[in-house]
Amino acid sequence: MGSENRTVGDGTRAVRAGLPEPVAYEPTLPGPVFAAHYHLPGEPTGPYTYGRDENPTWTHLERAIGELEAPGDDGVETVVFASGMAAVSAVLLSQTRAGDTVVLPDDGYQALALVREQLAAYDVLVRTAPTGGDAQLGELDGARLLWIETPSNPGLDVCDIRRLADAAHAAGALVAVDNTLATPLGQRPLELGADFSVASGTKGLTGHGDVLLGYVACRDARLAARVRRWRKVVGAIPGPMEAWLAHRSLATLQLRADKQGANALALAEALRGHPAVGGLRHPGLPDDPSHPVASRQMRRFGCVVSFTLPDRAYAERFLEGLRLADDATSFGGVRSTAERRGRWGGDAVPEGFVRFSVGAEDPEDLVADVLRALDEAAPPA
Ligand SMILES: *Cc1c(COP(=O)(O)O)cnc(C)c1O
Repeated sequence: MGSENRTVGDGTRAVRAGLPEPVAYEPTLPGPVFAAHYHLPGEPTGPYTYGRDENPTWTHLERAIGELEAPGDDGVETVVFASGMAAVSAVLLSQTRAGDTVVLPDDGYQALALVREQLAAYDVLVRTAPTGGDAQLGELDGARLLWIETPSNPGLDVCDIRRLADAAHAAGALVAVDNTLATPLGQRPLELGADFSVASGTKGLTGHGDVLLGYVACRDARLAARVRRWRKVVGAIPGPMEAWLAHRSLATLQLRADKQGANALALAEALRGHPAVGGLRHPGLPDDPSHPVASRQMRRFGCVVSFTLPDRAYAERFLEGLRLADDATSFGGVRSTAERRGRWGGDAVPEGFVRFSVGAEDPEDLVADVLRALDEAAPPA
């Protein structure tokens, strides 16, 4: 799909994304290519030489993700990785050097704290600020790279990508957005001014909890080349089977994002006002602090709802009582999961804080299950 890709709807784009031109008697989506090396007579001028450098199954997936991240933009380049963290560190470590300053969120994905330590070990200076209120604006002076995560995980604060990107560019900094929670159907950071859209494909992008994957999408060929080179140097490459499964899963991305987003809103509405539930957050709730900015820059609000139960034991009883949501980490899958985030340490959240990832169940079943589990978790009066 070339330039007509700009005008079609998300569902059409998702089912056709990255498909090669039809070849008679071949499958629509070619199967995974398992190859450590390719036939290579003479000079290595062709696209596929060695399996760590390139793979045709990645190429199809990279085109597909690029079409979703920047519809109609033939200049977008996408590089897929073995995991979200492989993609995150590829950007942070390939675009910075000793003496540079990087601005990170202080409420972002947990493993960012580890990346921060690694950056510090390489003499890259790190400053942090919260996502909410565009507080990172205050840290941009002299920065080389601004890292944004919006909505933030797990707090679900949202910042204004366009505003931060404009300010960062004026200060001479590159801008990367972690687009994991929103998925490219929820927001398109490159169109909002970011230089990189980076994500874990492990979550909503692939949506079945059975694949680890990451990617970096970017419009500048020079920046993309550095990311691609980093992948070759570090070797954080996805397996062909994972890449193929991810591509296959993209066909249902719009169905899943719409259904799971609607379910998340239904669950949030049902929890609103429940006496045991505090700190309810979902960017799609009209009175959520994130809603004004989210409704300007997001096209879907994601499937994560967070809230705080009175204490740790209450939250543990609640999670144990759920029948339609597994107590498991991660998010974005078609089967609901929920967890007490505090069990990991690291996130600045209360002991009773629950991150609920809403799946594709029937909303009335899910809401009933959650309300029942909440009632049963209440301590005896
Ligand atoms: C999960 C996650 C990552 C890391 O992805 P992996 O695939 O687990 O390596 C990065 N950013 C966010 C926001 C995430 O939720």
